[in-house]
Amino acid sequence: MDLKTFIRDIDDFPRQGVVFKDITPLLANAKAIRYTLDKLVEMVGVYGVDKVVGMESRGFFFGPLLAQRLNAGFVPVRKPNKLPSEKISQTYDLEYGTDTLDMHSDAILAGEKVLVHDDVLATGGTARATCNLVERLGGEIVQCNFLIELDFLKGRDKLGETPVKALLNY
Ligand code: 5GP
Repeated sequence: MDLKTFIRDIDDFPRQGVVFKDITPLLANAKAIRYTLDKLVEMVGVYGVDKVVGMESRGFFFGPLLAQRLNAGFVPVRKPNKLPSEKISQTYDLEYGTDTLDMHSDAILAGEKVLVHDDVLATGGTARATCNLVERLGGEIVQCNFLIELDFLKGRDKLGETPVKALLNY
C-alpha cells in the first residue's frame, strides 16, 4: 500500500509559505489505519517498551493504538493548562516566540523504557521538548517514532543520539 497517496498537501496552512501534510485522508480509511499501525509496530523493533508518549494533538491518533499493540501504557503530553494533576513543563523556542508542553509528574517512572510518537517531525522542537520531559522524569527513550519526517527541516539533528524513525520521508 502506498501510504503517501493518503497524505494531502495543503498550501499556505497554517500560514503563508507552509505546505502542511494533512493526514486526515489516511485516518478516514480503515485499511490505511491498519496498514500504518502494522508498519509503525514493525518500525519500533525493540522489546519491553513501558510507555508510549504522544504529543497533543496528532500524536494522540496512533499513540494509544501503538501502546496497545506494544502492551505499553500511553502518556499524553499536553499544551499548557490542560493537565489536572501535578506536572512538569518544558518551554521551547519557535520561529517566533516560544511554546510550552506539560506532562504529569507521575506519568513515567525512573528507568522505564519510553517510545516517543508523533505524526510529523518538522523542526524537531516539539520532539526535543518531549524528550526533555521524559528524561527529567528518568525515562529511557528507546526511539522517537513518526509517521512523517520532513527531511529538509533537519529535525532529527535536535534529537542527538536518540534513534529516530519515520514511516514516510519527504
Ligand atoms: P516541530 O516541532 O517538529 O517543528 O513540529 C512538529 C509538530 O507540529 C507536530 O506535533 C506536528 O503534529 C505538527 N506539524 C508540523 N508540521 C506539520 C505538518 O505539515 N503536518 C502535520 N500533520 N503536522 C505538522
